[in-house]
Amino acid sequence: MSRQARFYQWGMVIDLDRCTGCGACVVACQAENNVALVEKQRFAEGRDMHWLRIERYWEGEFPHVRARFLPMLCQHCGDAPCEPVCPVYASYHNDEGLNGQVYNRCVGTRYCGNNCPYAVRVFNFLNPDWPQPLPDQLNPDVTVRSRGVMEKCTFCIQRIRRGKETAKSEKRLVRDGEIQPACAQTCPPGAIVFGNLADPDSHVSRLARSPRRFRLFEDLGTDPSVIYLKGGGHEHAG
Ligand code: SF4
Repeated sequence: MSRQARFYQWGMVIDLDRCTGCGACVVACQAENNVALVEKQRFAEGRDMHWLRIERYWEGEFPHVRARFLPMLCQHCGDAPCEPVCPVYASYHNDEGLNGQVYNRCVGTRYCGNNCPYAVRVFNFLNPDWPQPLPDQLNPDVTVRSRGVMEKCTFCIQRIRRGKETAKSEKRLVRDGEIQPACAQTCPPGAIVFGNLADPDSHVSRLARSPRRFRLFEDLGTDPSVIYLKGGGHEHAG
C-alpha cells in the first residue's frame, strides 16, 4: 500500500532542545509495557532491560561544555534491517509503518538485535520475577514476556489499537493527539510528540517538517519513523 493511500502512518518527533534527561519516559515505558526489572548484578552483566533509554553526550569544548540527552527507542524503520534477518518472521512491518514483534513466534536467535544499528532490541535472558505486590500493577493489555524472546518498543501498540477501535466505533478517524504512547504522555517538557504522519496537518507532521529535523543514521537507508529536532529554539505549534 502506498504511503499516500494510508489513513495512518505512525511517527514520533523528539525535540532534543526540550529533553532534560529526567528519565520519566523510561519509567513510564517500563510501567506501561511490563518491562522486567533487572537486578543491579544482572545489569552489570549486560542483561539490562529497557525499551527506551536516554543517551547522554557532551556538546562544546571545555569549559563551555553542555550535557545533552537523546531518548533512544525503536526507530520503526521503513526499511528495517531487523526484519529480513528473522528466520521465523517474528519481526515484521505493518501497513501503518510500525515495526512489529510477534513474541510467540520469536525463537530467540537474536539476528534482529545484531542487525539493528540503533541497539534498541533487548533480549529477555530471564524469566522475569514479579514479587508481590508488583503483579497487581502489570498492564493487562500487554503480554508479559518470558525468557528467550526479543523485545522492543512498539509505540505502545495497545494504545494505538484502543484508539483506533474507539474511533471506528464512532465512525471516524483517530483525532490528532488522541493516542499518546506512555513516554509522550509522561514527558514533563513535552519533548515527545506522537501522531499520524499521513495527516499533513497533524502536530507531529508539522514538527517533522522543521528545519531542525534529523534522523539517526539516515545514511544507512533505514528510513526511521522517529524524527529528532536538534537544538536551536522551540517550535511546538498547536
Ligand atoms: S521524559 Fe522527556 S525530558 Fe525526560 S528524559 Fe524523557 S524525553 Fe527527556
